[in-house]
Amino acid sequence: MNFDSATGYLIGPPNKGLNCMFTFMNTARIGTALQGLSHTEWGFQNSLAYARDRLQMRALSGPKNPDKAADPIIVHPAVRSMLLTQKAFAEGGRALIYFAAQQVDRSKLAKTAEEKQEAEDLLSLLTPIAKAFLTETGLESASHGVQVFGGHGYIAEWGMEQNLRDARIATIYEGTTQVQALDLLGRKVLMSQGELLKRFTKIIHKFCQSQADSEPMQPYVSALTRLNKEWGDVTLQIGMKAMKNREEVGAASVEYLMYSGYITLAWLWARQAEVALRKLAENPSDADFYHAKLKTARFYFERLLPRTRTLVEVMLSGADNLMELDSEHFAF
Ligand SMILES: Cc1cc2nc3c(=O)[nH]c(=O)nc-3n(C[C@H](O)[C@H](O)[C@H](O)COP(=O)(O)OP(=O)(O)OC[C@H]3O[C@@H](n4cnc5c(N)ncnc54)[C@H](O)[C@@H]3O)c2cc1C
Repeated sequence: MNFDSATGYLIGPPNKGLNCMFTFMNTARIGTALQGLSHTEWGFQNSLAYARDRLQMRALSGPKNPDKAADPIIVHPAVRSMLLTQKAFAEGGRALIYFAAQQVDRSKLAKTAEEKQEAEDLLSLLTPIAKAFLTETGLESASHGVQVFGGHGYIAEWGMEQNLRDARIATIYEGTTQVQALDLLGRKVLMSQGELLKRFTKIIHKFCQSQADSEPMQPYVSALTRLNKEWGDVTLQIGMKAMKNREEVGAASVEYLMYSGYITLAWLWARQAEVALRKLAENPSDADFYHAKLKTARFYFERLLPRTRTLVEVMLSGADNLMELDSEHFAF
């Protein structure tokens, strides 16, 4: 870059440029997480409207729209799966963004140095998760959005393919998914000897304990309790392997980040379910809203959270299956 003899002014303390840059970078990462979430939301709203309108084939259980030539595609289970995936990522992701923003507020308004540090540590752990998980799920959701439109999804006028193209960059800039994954597992989790992660899993553990007496919460709480414990165990196993071979960190990191994202969203969905159950007990006028929350929470736990099974198996499979092929032999 050529600044044509312009005067440069130091805007932070001398020799602390990298630290200052990270203040800016972290804000940009949360901003990009929000972009990923926006692609999910935009794809969802448009594909939902289309799925209600577009008539194609009949429901397997018999016509739902007998007066018309066909049923709207929202009746088909496979279409519902694409819509619910977008809805679960949109509302779960929104909760994650709010929670991260809450930590920014807590750190700014903290009354004690301890509270400030706690909020900053939580934000520091959650930033790579929010950035990479919400942009990767934004990309997946944008792709579902195109698919719900069928052939029309590929036509520029609807804007669905534009949403998918724009979602693609969010996983790249402000630190790629792979770089966020190294930051999470290498710097945030392993370099703090698991301390930052422990602080977060303790919050999840306390939530699960607080719900021990609620029968309708048990499906969520039992899955979350199991995963929360497994999160620590898996981290320890990777940490042990990494002491012998540093490549183990890179080999496990992307799956580890996505796994962490699914558990974080599971906690946020369980919290939404808890609020919905509490509100429904008060017979609210907007009961449909809370019923929809419970049904979406169930979808998340039964259809998206099981992805953690594959992620665990892959991340624990080790670095050898990635490293044994010589770089010169990839083209053979
Ligand atoms: C549209 C657009 C706008 C941009 N705007 C800005 C801007 O305003 N300001 C700015 O400063 N930059 C900007 N960028 C740059 C952007 O931040 C970088 O492109 C991005 O950080 C990736 O860096 P790179 O392109 O050098 O890829 P590389 O670092 O070459 O990465 C290539 C691939 O290798 C992977 N990789 C690299 N190193 C590792 C590793 N150690 N472990 C695992 N995987 C690895 C990456 O994940 C990626 O998949 C922009 C880029 C684009 C496309």
